[in-house]
Amino acid sequence: MRILVTGGAGFLGSHLCERLLADGHSVICVDNLLTGRLENFRTFATDPRFSFELHDICHPFNFGPVDFIYDFASPASPEDYIKWGVETLEVGSLGTRNCLELAREYKAGFFLASTSECYGDPDVHPQTESYWGHVNPIGKRSVYDEAKRFSEALTMAYHHYRGVDTRIVRIFNTYGPRLQLNDGRVISNFMKQALLGDDLTIYGDGMQTRSFCYVSDEIEGIVRLAASSEHLPTNIGNPHEFTVIDCAKLVLEVTGSASKLVFKPLPQDDPKQRCPDISKAKALLGWEPIVDLRTGLGMTLPYFRESLATDSRGSSPSQ
Ligand code: UDP
Repeated sequence: MRILVTGGAGFLGSHLCERLLADGHSVICVDNLLTGRLENFRTFATDPRFSFELHDICHPFNFGPVDFIYDFASPASPEDYIKWGVETLEVGSLGTRNCLELAREYKAGFFLASTSECYGDPDVHPQTESYWGHVNPIGKRSVYDEAKRFSEALTMAYHHYRGVDTRIVRIFNTYGPRLQLNDGRVISNFMKQALLGDDLTIYGDGMQTRSFCYVSDEIEGIVRLAASSEHLPTNIGNPHEFTVIDCAKLVLEVTGSASKLVFKPLPQDDPKQRCPDISKAKALLGWEPIVDLRTGLGMTLPYFRESLATDSRGSSPSQ
C-alpha cells in the first residue's frame, strides 16, 4: 500500500513509518517539524519507498493517491501542548479534517491517533472505551484533550455521514527510544535526571499512577487495529499500573543512579490515576503488551545516554 503518516517525524509517528516500511509498504511522511525531528528518520531515511513532505496539515494538502492515512500529527507531551496550545487545537480540528477529506477523495482508510486524555482525570478505573471521561474543558490540558475529543467526533462523523472507513486508537503513556530528552514527560525527565546525577522531580506526592507501554508493543497494537474493521475507539496501552514514585525508583535501579527524589508542585488537572482496560483489544486483536517497564527502560537507556552525550556537545538539533 501507499500510506501517508502525518506527524511521522515524531516519536510514535517515526516508529510507525519504520514498521510500515518493514511490512513492505511505501510511506509518505508529512510533518511541519513543530515537535518532530528529522533525526528520527535516521534508520530509514534512505529507503527508496520513504519520502518526507515538510507541510503543516492545517493547510489542505495532496501528495498524490494514497490507500491509507495514519493521522499522528500533534504536540503530545503536556509541556509541548501547553506551549503550543492554539496549534494543538488547530491540528486536531483543521488538520484532522484535511486528512479525512483526503481519505474521502482517494477512498483511503483513515486511522486517528487519539489518547487516554479523552478520559481526562478519570473517575472510572481502569478506563474502558465506554467511559465518557471527566475533562476540564477550559483547563491547561484542555487544548489537547478537547482537540482529541473533537477529532474523535469528526472521525466518527466522516464515518457515519461521508462513508470514510475509519479507525480510532486511544493511546496511553508510551515510552522508548526517540522520546525527546527535553519533552518534560516523566520517563524523559527521570532518565535524564538519573543519568546526570540530578534530583528526580516528583510532581505532587508522587502517588498518582500511570501505565507505561513500550513503543514496540504500542506499534504492534496500532498496526493490528488498522488491519481490523473496528470503527469505535480502542484502548492500546499497558495495563500494568505504577505510581510516579515507583516509576522513579525503577529508573534509579535501571540506571544505577544515586540521585535523590525531590518534590515539586503538581501541575493543574494532572490525572490522579490512569490505566487502560484492554479487554477489547485482547478479544478483538489478540493483542497484549509483552515488554514490562523494567525491561523497556533497560532497552531505552542506551538511547538516552546517546542523546545526553549529543546534547552536552551542544549539537542537539532543535525542533
Ligand atoms: N511527572 C513527575 N515528574 C516529572 C514529570 C512528570 O512527577 O518530572 C508526573 C506528572 O505530574 C504526571 C506523570 O508524571 O502525573 C506523567 O506525566 P507525563 O508528563 O509523562 O504525561 P501525562 O501522563 O501527565 O500526560
